Amino acid sequence: MYNPNERVVQVAVIGAGVAGLKAASTLVNKLGDAQVVVLEAQDRLGGRILTDTTSSKLGLNYDLGAAWFHDSLTNPVLKEALEEEDKSVFDFEKDAYFDDKDTQFFSSDHDGPIDVASLKINRVSEDLEKFIELYFVESLEVPDSSLEEVNSKFFEKYGKFLTDEQRHYCRNIIRHYELWYGITWDLISGKHAIMDHNGRNLLNKNGYKFLIEKLTSNIPSQSVYTEQQVVSIDRKNKVHDKKVLIQTKQGLRIYCDYIVVTVPQSVLQLKSASEYGITWNPPLPSNITSALESIHFGALGKVIFEFDEVWWDPEEDRFDILADITPGFVASQEIKSPPVPFSYPAFVVNFASVHKEKNLPGGSLVVLTQSPLTQYLESSPASEAWKFYKPMLAKLALPGKNITEPINIIKTNWTNNPYIRGSYAALHTDDDPSELIIQLSGEFDGCGLIDKNIRFAGEHTISDGAGCVHGAYMSGLREADWIINDLSDSISNI
Ligand SMILES: Cc1cc2nc3c(=O)[nH]c(=O)nc-3n(C[C@H](O)[C@H](O)[C@H](O)COP(=O)(O)OP(=O)(O)OC[C@H]3O[C@@H](n4cnc5c(N)ncnc54)[C@H](O)[C@@H]3O)c2cc1C
Repeated sequence: MYNPNERVVQVAVIGAGVAGLKAASTLVNKLGDAQVVVLEAQDRLGGRILTDTTSSKLGLNYDLGAAWFHDSLTNPVLKEALEEEDKSVFDFEKDAYFDDKDTQFFSSDHDGPIDVASLKINRVSEDLEKFIELYFVESLEVPDSSLEEVNSKFFEKYGKFLTDEQRHYCRNIIRHYELWYGITWDLISGKHAIMDHNGRNLLNKNGYKFLIEKLTSNIPSQSVYTEQQVVSIDRKNKVHDKKVLIQTKQGLRIYCDYIVVTVPQSVLQLKSASEYGITWNPPLPSNITSALESIHFGALGKVIFEFDEVWWDPEEDRFDILADITPGFVASQEIKSPPVPFSYPAFVVNFASVHKEKNLPGGSLVVLTQSPLTQYLESSPASEAWKFYKPMLAKLALPGKNITEPINIIKTNWTNNPYIRGSYAALHTDDDPSELIIQLSGEFDGCGLIDKNIRFAGEHTISDGAGCVHGAYMSGLREADWIINDLSDSISNI
């Protein structure tokens, strides 16, 4: 008898972020839509891709999660988007924006932008980054230490090469990495901090939503179940001749041969007793549970301030506001009372410059936030964000212009979202960047689960593009291809 709470299929994909949707869309193409279902706990698709098209008072779209195509020379998502004939997917001429200007730097003790060029700040910054790389390359025996500690070592050793001003402004310039990883410099692994990029960053001014729309275009709505929180995965099931039974909190039961688990690492890590954890039967083996502990999860967030007047430089596209040097300040400590402005660095993207051609009746500044500031601001009224950033943003005011009050403040809420719980995988000191990938990517013999029909995808399961949209996308493709291949092998073996 037909039971609306039951489905029997070949493949179930858990999580409808970019990894899950790429896997599902590839599988639907090959196996047909009757054989694939997607289970998503939230009431919307996209996961950490979320383009806000309604909150702006200036008529702009804001990506509250991923916004940039990183590694634009090699980014496969960008490459495919540009190959699309249908320009409504991504119109490069109209919507692409490269962050091709050096950032301006500001500090609490200086009015206007710091003269980076004549003080040769960028040259010192390059030396500092090279020092950090060389420090750990010198010997494999060098233990990991935090970015803050290895930064101090540079100044101990080479501070004498610098001018007073260089020493002053560069002392904690390396903290801008906090706005990449979403964690503070006293936690960031020095060994893994410095990044090499394959090309500039590119923004689709319309937002990343195009990717979710593209990926869902061939998945019929009856194959996608939203508001279905997976609570258990039984991988020794025998009912309906299927190896796996998935159950959701809302009472749905899916029987299938293969699953692709794409929930964030922050969710996979939860104990089964937790309200949002998944109970595995039999439990996940210790090689996987300990790999899940070998890496942390960051908390990058955003606060967007909209103004009816542009009182900052409309031409510069990004601003770095340096944090003050406060001896004894532990940046990662939980924030319990309003934080002091300039205690955390800010990275600001100038949307007045990004959307220059629109002649907007104002402009906006998109400010990135790091843990523990993200948790504090996401749990506080928007006015707290303005209180913290106002004195910092005031530094951007052009001569003769005064900072004005925002007409609108938009904030992210990733740390309070129980199905995301932060931003993406981040390496603390002594974390292992490869163990989780080895255990979950399915690419290494003798690792992961014995049941090869249980697959994992997501930004935390891949090294090329780790933490990024294109990494998540390629991991979804990897798993869909593996299943298609496995199915064709078993058909040809009959
Ligand atoms: C603020 C911020 C800025 C970022 N900026 C960039 C950027 O500029 N460029 C870039 O490339 N990347 C960026 N990223 C990272 C990028 O967004 C992610 O790497 C990528 O979107 C992750 O995709 P995913 O499919 O692995 O995971 P997700 O998108 O998180 O998908 C997992 C899905 O699983 C669902 N789920 C969780 N638990 C359950 C359950 N029990 N049952 C069913 N479903 C469940 C979740 O709701 C979610 O929809 C940013 C992220 C954040 C938060």
